[in-house]
Order: sequence, then structure tokens, then C-alpha cells
Amino acid sequence: MFFTSTRANKNVSAAQAVAQGISEDGGLFVPSEFPAIDQQTLEQLVNMSYKERAKKVLACYLNDYTTEEIDKCVENAYTGNFDNDVPAPLSTLNDKLHILELWHGPTCAFKDMALQILPHLLTTAAAKVAPDEQKVILVATSGDTGKAALEGFADVPKTKIIVFYPVDGVSAMQKLQMTTQQGSNVAVCAIEGNFDDAQTGVKNIFSDSNMQKYLADRKMAFSSANSINFGRLVPQIIYYVSAYCDLVKDGKIAMGDKINVVVPTGNFGNILAAVYARNMGIPIAKFVCASNRNKILTDFIATGEYNRNREFYQTDSPSMDILISSNLERMLYHLYDNDPEKVAALMKDLKEKGSYKVTDEVLAKLQKEFFGGYCDDADTAKTIKNLFDEYHYLCDTHTAVAVNVYEQYKKATGDETPCVIASTASPYKFASAVLPALDGDAEADEFAMLDKLAAVSGTEVPSPLANLHDKKVLHKDCVNKVNMSDFITAFLDK
Ligand SMILES: *Cc1c(COP(=O)(O)O)cnc(C)c1O
Repeated sequence: MFFTSTRANKNVSAAQAVAQGISEDGGLFVPSEFPAIDQQTLEQLVNMSYKERAKKVLACYLNDYTTEEIDKCVENAYTGNFDNDVPAPLSTLNDKLHILELWHGPTCAFKDMALQILPHLLTTAAAKVAPDEQKVILVATSGDTGKAALEGFADVPKTKIIVFYPVDGVSAMQKLQMTTQQGSNVAVCAIEGNFDDAQTGVKNIFSDSNMQKYLADRKMAFSSANSINFGRLVPQIIYYVSAYCDLVKDGKIAMGDKINVVVPTGNFGNILAAVYARNMGIPIAKFVCASNRNKILTDFIATGEYNRNREFYQTDSPSMDILISSNLERMLYHLYDNDPEKVAALMKDLKEKGSYKVTDEVLAKLQKEFFGGYCDDADTAKTIKNLFDEYHYLCDTHTAVAVNVYEQYKKATGDETPCVIASTASPYKFASAVLPALDGDAEADEFAMLDKLAAVSGTEVPSPLANLHDKKVLHKDCVNKVNMSDFITAFLDK
């Protein structure tokens, strides 16, 4: 197995793919084939801890890392950094409905699952392929990746990290998490625009030859902590494998039984990781792709046309306010039987016309595996309330979108296959939307809202959020999207 680009034939090692983040041709790195987890291995995994499962799954892809290197990365990432013994526990609501809680890490969102380990994977890779270089991690964030990447990369030797977020596109809590970040190698900057502007700006800077020369002159090179980096994706495969093993271990399903997976989707990274787990042999029947009012993926799955020429909405699930789902490019590559020319042509259409259409054959393949649905803010709030009333389970807005779309799926199909819903954030991270949903009124002060949510729900405020109260705001910059490179060079020249 090696790695290639979605837009051109390449042959790079895992370490190269992780160190580089994105291919020079603008494509994303994908594995040339999927390693298989056979029945016997799966049975072994059932009796292992999360960390042991992680080591097995990572070793399948990172074939030029030594066993010792992988062990060290996993131990460093998943020991002591999560508020639960198990980094990704399952909460069972009923026989058929299991919530995979991915938000027990230091920033209270699922991005920690990958970003606690990515700095270790990346520095290990960089030491192999370019030991003299300093890595400059560029991040565009819709709110959660930024903080999780800062938390992972702060004060990591031989790295600098620069995060751009849309000035009005993140929640108050998300903004405070980022602007209070400490660390000698970190920069955080708002941009006037939305997440797509930030993401496109970052992608353009990656392939800007002037910037590349500027960095090369200083013995630096860019890399990415966004899910365009394969090193972000591979740790996300682990928790789907692990969830399946937990269901078997707890007697909720028998070995070999199929499950469905429901994922609240933005950049298509999380749901793609579930597809990769299935491609490795985990019995997943259906992928339910849940969107908020920015329902570009729902429309794509229904029609085969991806069209970003539409209004952009700010919603109560801001981490999914996205119109260009980067990782869909990887899915297209696999759907087109690994044909980089086809993908490059579609991506050219997307860039030039803002839309593309897949063939009927590809659409049929897509629809066989995926169900797409969406849910607006009013129904998101209703779902939070219903889930709390019925199961006394409190979920955040993103997870509620997934639960709502799962209900739509069941109604449309009658499919009662046991289901795992990816829960992507702590409800406290989006208290200003979750609290009113539970009948409590919103409060003016974010921290008063956390306390009230704790009182109403009988759960505890996660300490990383409570602690923000006393932290000083350190990052106040805000630039126009055309000035992102200037911000970068000013920071690197400091
Ligand atoms: C990032 C994020 C998502 C979307 O995940 P993708 O991998 O971009 O599809 C959903 N929910 C939350 C809370 C997130 O932070």
C-alpha cells in the first residue's frame, strides 16, 4: 500500500503524506488500497483497550512508521488527556440506538480524537522525511478544529501553528477557546468572511509558489491539521472500529451483524472515516449523512449535482456551516474507481463554475450506500428537548441534527438496523442554543449559561470550558481574507 493524490498518479509513503498534508497538485492523499481487518483480527480487537485497537488500526496504514513509533504516538495521545477512561465511550439509549461520544477530550469536540495524536504523527513523519525543516501548520476552522489543533500543537518543538476562523461564524465559547490560547508557537486570527473563505484562502496559500519560496528560504514548510491531511483521517477510523467492537463485547450485537452509522457532516471527514472502516471490513450497512440548513450534501446525494451557488446560512450548528466539503473529493475518487483525471475535472468545474455533476452510474453507487437528510434550527431544538425528555440524555446541536435525520431515515425506509450516531460535541460548547431548547431562557453571560445548563440537566460543566472564565484574551487580530498571507509572514518574521 502507498499513497496517491486524488488528482494525479503519485506514489508517496504514509510519512510523506502526513508530513505534507496536501498534494502539490491540490489533490488529497488517499491510500492505494484498503487494508483488511479479517474476522480473526476483529475478534482479537474486541478484547482490547481503545489504545490497543488504535495501534492496530494505525499500523494498517502507517506502514513506514515503526511499531515503537506508533506505540509512542498512541500512548502520548490517549493517556490522561480525556475526561473518561475510554476516549470514545458509547451511550446506549435503547437496543437499537447507541450514541458514540467523541467529545471527552480537552476541547470538548470530536476533533480532539484526531488532533491529540496528529502532532505526534506529524513530528514523527517530519523527522523521517525532512528532519531539518520546521513545520508551519495552517488551519482554517469552522470553530472546533482550530482549538483542537492549537491544543495539540501548542509548544510542540519544530512546529508553528496559525489558525484562521470566520469572525462571525463561530460560537462565543469557540471563539474564547481560541483567543485565549497560550503557547510560544501559536497565532490565531479572525477573517472577514465565512468558513469557506478561510478554507479556500488556506488552500490557495498552500499552493502559492511565492509563499512556498518564502518558507523554503527559512527552512520551513507548510502542513495541514485540517481533515485534508490523511493523518487527521486515520485516527478517526479507530473509533468506528472500536464502537463496533464495544457493541459486540457488550452483547448488543453478534459478531458479523451489520450496523448503520449516522454522522453530522460538514467537511465530510468524519463520515468518510466510517466509510474507510467499512472498506476495511467493519460490517456497516448504511451511512446516514446529516446536514443542517446548509444542505448541499443532502442535495448532492439526492441529485448527483454538487452546487455551491446558493445562499450560505449561519446556524446553531456552526461547525457544519460549510458549502465546500473537502473530503468529498476522496469519496469521489473511490466512487470513480480511483480515476484521478475524473476527479481533477470535477474539481476544476467546482472551482470555475461552482458546481459539478457526477454520472448516473456514480450517483447510483452513492445512493446505495448513503442516505442524506437535513434539519433546521427549530427542529434541532425540538430534537434536543425530545431526546432529553425521552431518555434524559443531553446532546449538542450537531448531534441533534444527526438524531433528527436518523429519525427521518427510519421513517423513510423502515430500517431498524442497530445504529451508532456520532456525537461530535459536548452540549456545553453550544449552551446558548442548547439551553433555550430545554425551555430555559438564554442568559446574556456565557458562563451563567453553563451553570444553568448544569442545573437544568443534572450534568457537569466540563472543566476546560469552566476554566475559560479566568483566561486572558491574547489574540485579537482580524484581517480581510486577501491579507491572510501578510498575516502569516508577519508572524513568521517575528
Ligand atoms: C467538525 C465538526 C463536524 C463536522 O465534521 P466533518 O468531519 O467536517 O464532517 C460536526 N460537528 C462538530 C461539533 C464538529 O466540530
